[in-house]
Amino acid sequence: MHEYGDCSFCGGEVKEGKVELDYRYQGKLFVFQNENVPAGVCQQCGEKYLTAKIAKEIEHRIQTKEKRDMTISVPVFYLKKSQHRLAAFCFLKKEKNEKLQFEK
Ligand SMILES: [Zn+2]
Repeated sequence: MHEYGDCSFCGGEVKEGKVELDYRYQGKLFVFQNENVPAGVCQQCGEKYLTAKIAKEIEHRIQTKEKRDMTISVPVFYLKKSQHRLAAFCFLKKEKNEKLQFEK
């Protein structure tokens, strides 16, 4: 079992688990489904951490194109500048609420 340090985003405890993973490789998105990727998961914010060994395995799977199980299409959006600000505001607001919850 791998020892993960505390979460580098929120300082929460990181425990080992099996997860679904959205992985970006050379600008493209790859999805590993069925919750079978071993990873550290922050118990507070849900951030996922991979060991170097698992990341290597994942990249090997991506490079071996003929072994993929299926390909899906993903909707892509460009936000207008005013919407950028709105999204940033919503994120900050959400973060604030979450912090309030942790203080209870
Ligand atoms: Zn965290």
